[in-house]
Amino acid sequence: MPKKKPKPVTAERTVDSSKVEARQSGIHATGCFAACDIRKGEKVIEYVGPLITKAESERECENENVYIFTLNDQYDINGNVPWNPARFINHSCDPNCESENDDEHIWILATRDIKAGEELAYNYGFDLGEYQDYPCNCGSPKCVGYMVAAEFFDHARKYRESQKKEAVVV
Ligand SMILES: [Zn+2]
Repeated sequence: MPKKKPKPVTAERTVDSSKVEARQSGIHATGCFAACDIRKGEKVIEYVGPLITKAESERECENENVYIFTLNDQYDINGNVPWNPARFINHSCDPNCESENDDEHIWILATRDIKAGEELAYNYGFDLGEYQDYPCNCGSPKCVGYMVAAEFFDHARKYRESQKKEAVVV
């Protein structure tokens, strides 16, 4: 039997956001902070939004909507809606959370114990397409300067070095 796909849900949903608190961030604009102590492996919050087709998703990405999340081979989630507090979670090169996708839901999980008040972050997992347009200000000593998936860190570091050299010549 073919795997059952979720029906496109566009209706507003209320998520349990009791473990997060959105406020001004030192990384970028508004961030999400732990509202309580969170244990490693714990679900922090669900990432929600209307399901959109791959064609719609492509258009949104062209419009630089950075809140698009791949859900499965049929749908993506457009997280750029007010009822998705997880959209405020910033990217970091050395994050304390990760996203987990079970084909029907996207969860933000803690990858280590997190103390109340700590800013939550995960790696957005961007590929190399135009990452130079997305500088990272996560402030971690491990920051590679751009918002890319961990597998591309070496690439980003080399690019940053090449930019520095150019700046010196000029
Ligand atoms: Zn960074």
